[in-house]
Amino acid sequence: MSDLSAVLEHWEPVIGLEVHAQLSTRTKMFCGCRNSYGAPPNSYTCPTCLGLPGALPVANEQAVNFALRLGLALGCEITQLSRFARKNYFYPDLTKGYQISQYDEPLCVGGQVTIRWGNEVKDIALTRIHMEEDAGKSIHAENGDGTKVDFNRCGVPLVEIVSEPVIQSPEEAKAYLVRLKQILEYLNICDCNMEEGNLRCDANISVRPLGESKFGVKTEMKNMNSFRGVERGLTSEIVRQAQVLDEGGEVEQVTLLWNEAEQKAEVMRSKEEAHDYRYFPDPDLVPLSVSDDNLHSIRSSLVEMPYEREERFVNQYGLRLEDSLVLTSEKSLADYFEETVSAGAEPAEATKWIMGEVLSIIKDGGMSVSSFPVTPDQFAGLLNSVKNGTVNVATGKDILRRMVKSDLTAAEIIKKEGLAQVSDESALSEAVAQVVANNPDELGRYREGKKALFGFFMGEVMKVTGGKSDPNVVKKLLTSSLESD
Ligand SMILES: [Zn+2]
Repeated sequence: MSDLSAVLEHWEPVIGLEVHAQLSTRTKMFCGCRNSYGAPPNSYTCPTCLGLPGALPVANEQAVNFALRLGLALGCEITQLSRFARKNYFYPDLTKGYQISQYDEPLCVGGQVTIRWGNEVKDIALTRIHMEEDAGKSIHAENGDGTKVDFNRCGVPLVEIVSEPVIQSPEEAKAYLVRLKQILEYLNICDCNMEEGNLRCDANISVRPLGESKFGVKTEMKNMNSFRGVERGLTSEIVRQAQVLDEGGEVEQVTLLWNEAEQKAEVMRSKEEAHDYRYFPDPDLVPLSVSDDNLHSIRSSLVEMPYEREERFVNQYGLRLEDSLVLTSEKSLADYFEETVSAGAEPAEATKWIMGEVLSIIKDGGMSVSSFPVTPDQFAGLLNSVKNGTVNVATGKDILRRMVKSDLTAAEIIKKEGLAQVSDESALSEAVAQVVANNPDELGRYREGKKALFGFFMGEVMKVTGGKSDPNVVKKLLTSSLESD
């Protein structure tokens, strides 16, 4: 990284990203085979996705609607009559010898993604979003004994999201990718599991002297399949290009493969150009037509985008931006917060409890937010029991953990286990008097000036009262008891 900051003093990186996202449709892009990860190899295939002679593809309506949802959410212009094209190349995992993609008539054009990192906000302009099908997967035997091919992935629907070359640092690229993943999750169109390859990122990278407007020679880097991989891969390539240029050399236009395990890029092949693929319109598919009605109905069902929601939470609920960013990071978490507030909890309290207790219970239990068993209604009920003093905060936290394991409400647990907070002064004075009487040594030291022992006495009173006493009342009673002779 220190290499990078030295490079950035003289060079400006120019990065464009191409992100492939697998759409979480029930079936594949052009056939009825199931679109599902992890099935036994070659169990979800048919003549169409294997490209056998005579088989005809038919476009998947749900996949098209998912792509439209993304395009509309990102402000793209929708091409109402677009076309599929064949991208011809040979690869062992591509039995057809071509991939069905879109070329000069993509479904979505333009648009933007608003990213945020640190205190920076920036709109990353998009070139296009087009639809295509995924290829199969080569599985290389670990002992070097040959390669097998799994065609389950063949024909899985993809959108390729192409940004303009406007990203200026690896950090910005990572923020862009994090945001895209969040948007795809908000729109519920991609599982976004990077380990399973749902979301994959390639980059075009060049550097130019600071202040120069002409682009330098770019390389393409493939296979950066984690957020960290993107940051490291880009950093390594930017530093490498700057070194080549600093030494008076020239950057060669090549395609690189990022090797995350070894933290270095390997040259895959010299860069191919679009004309190498011999694109032509796919004669087996009719042009893709999108009706006004369909566009209208998708547009009217769009959910609020994360960047709008994170700002609204600040304005509407008075949250700090950093808290709002945590709460809106996942749609289900943001929904949970808002439903808790609608059920009567105070926004500040709901924020504090969700970011502390709820997230830690979810993390410890290996749950997802949507499987968190305490409903927003029940949760708001608990927060109100704490707020109105029925139970103290420590007991409230304990009750929440019990609610996770049972179907009981906070009120039911409080009643059943006798957890209601004791704030009755006469009952508590007795406990205070008992604790003070039982600890004469500590009392003596306290009165000699060891004021830190106050915490010890508080703890003892809480212990004697089973943790249920109102800490404010105990504090008041203890103070007067300890200070008086
Ligand atoms: Zn099939």
